[in-house]
Amino acid sequence: MTRTISKDVVTKINETVRLNGWVNSRRNMGKIVFLDMRDRWGIVQVVCVPNELDDVSKEVLNEVRPEFVLEIEGVVQARGEKQINPNSPTGTVEVLAKKIVVLSKAETPPFEIDNEERQANEELRLKYRYLDLRHERMKQNIVLRHEIARATREFFYKEDFLEIETPYISKSTPEGARDFLVPSRHYPGKFFALPQSPQQYKQLLMVAGAEKYFQMARCFRDEDSRGDRQPEFTQMDLEMSFVERDEVMELNERALIEVVKKVAPEKKIQEIPFPRMSYKEAMEKYGTDRPDLRKDKEDPNLLAFCWVVDFPFFEKTEDGGWTFTHNPFSLPKPEYIEDLMNKKNIESILTTQYDVVLNGYEIGGGSIRAHRPEILKTTFEIMGYGEKEIQAQFGHVLEAFKFGTPPHGGIAWGFDRLVMLLAGEPNIREIIAFPKTADNRDPMMDGPSEVKREQLEELGIEIKN
Ligand code: ASP
Repeated sequence: MTRTISKDVVTKINETVRLNGWVNSRRNMGKIVFLDMRDRWGIVQVVCVPNELDDVSKEVLNEVRPEFVLEIEGVVQARGEKQINPNSPTGTVEVLAKKIVVLSKAETPPFEIDNEERQANEELRLKYRYLDLRHERMKQNIVLRHEIARATREFFYKEDFLEIETPYISKSTPEGARDFLVPSRHYPGKFFALPQSPQQYKQLLMVAGAEKYFQMARCFRDEDSRGDRQPEFTQMDLEMSFVERDEVMELNERALIEVVKKVAPEKKIQEIPFPRMSYKEAMEKYGTDRPDLRKDKEDPNLLAFCWVVDFPFFEKTEDGGWTFTHNPFSLPKPEYIEDLMNKKNIESILTTQYDVVLNGYEIGGGSIRAHRPEILKTTFEIMGYGEKEIQAQFGHVLEAFKFGTPPHGGIAWGFDRLVMLLAGEPNIREIIAFPKTADNRDPMMDGPSEVKREQLEELGIEIKN
């Protein structure tokens, strides 16, 4: 007999079915025992009446406790009017057990699974994440994340984008955050880095002629965690050729609207098209470049998207030089290209950068890129890079751009933040299956951990005491 999943039980009245799942709860009512059996799709009530069970199953039933994994054969019965549970999708039926087999026993979990009031602290929840993920709310978050990723992918497939993977073992690049370094065994003293984003690869894909690229990309930044930040996180990363700023913005706006409508139809988007404002306007009016424009902040279903544009390209560093505000690969707005090339009025140069903001969170950002090598090179010169350093760090991009580079631009969505906001969760750890703690540890795997001496020796690394 093939397995019947919980949500299909309602369609099988009077049929014999095989159920597999976890015991969510057990209630003893004299001789009768009720088991709520849980699987990924929901919960179904099983009634165990002694004289319906074979002798072995009767024995087995005595030891069954919450979180045991069982196989149950039984007959689906319609419940009487008074027994119907309107709060459960399977509340019109129950399964009368005939045979019970224990597939796996379970110790008492360190926190209750069938309890949405989280008494457990986060350390314990992350140490036993596989149990924490059994909570209904966590399961829903993981399912929602999947649905959002799927709707996103479907949108961009429909728009003829190619999904292309780029390497995780890459090279250290200055993208504003600290790199995670990966020592090279073959070249002691040299390091790979985990990518802070696929920025350079996706631009090189444009040189390669991919034209429309996207991927759900993992990004790595060795920064302190916060509620909306993790050392590794996911971007929906996208790049396209022969486009202007507004086309990228419009496409992404359509994508976000379609995704929300598909996966969270209960949400209301406050304003379409998304309002646009300049960085200057945002700072003057709201004192932040990621304003929360919700008219009613009590409404959990209200989504206020907006675009912020016209950011300054550069800002002063502590030692009086210049650094980029968002992305060094961006093109200045056309009217500022001359100033950039002449290294004049640097503080007033505006970039083609656009950020998309949702309810006060930056959920994406991108720009049109400098596809002419001399513009890109001048940008690095403004930031104080010498010829040698430019060649060492960006020689490959400048070289590539000499071989016929289409004008291009793109964006990346902070996918975790988007999911967090659509799930109505207060931090991104709630929507990542296996996140790090706020202080960058993994209590479940106990990472980071020490490694064997031989491993270090192989890499030519010595640990200072
Ligand atoms: N690579 C950029 C980032 O990670 C996004 C982009 O400009 O496409 O913020």
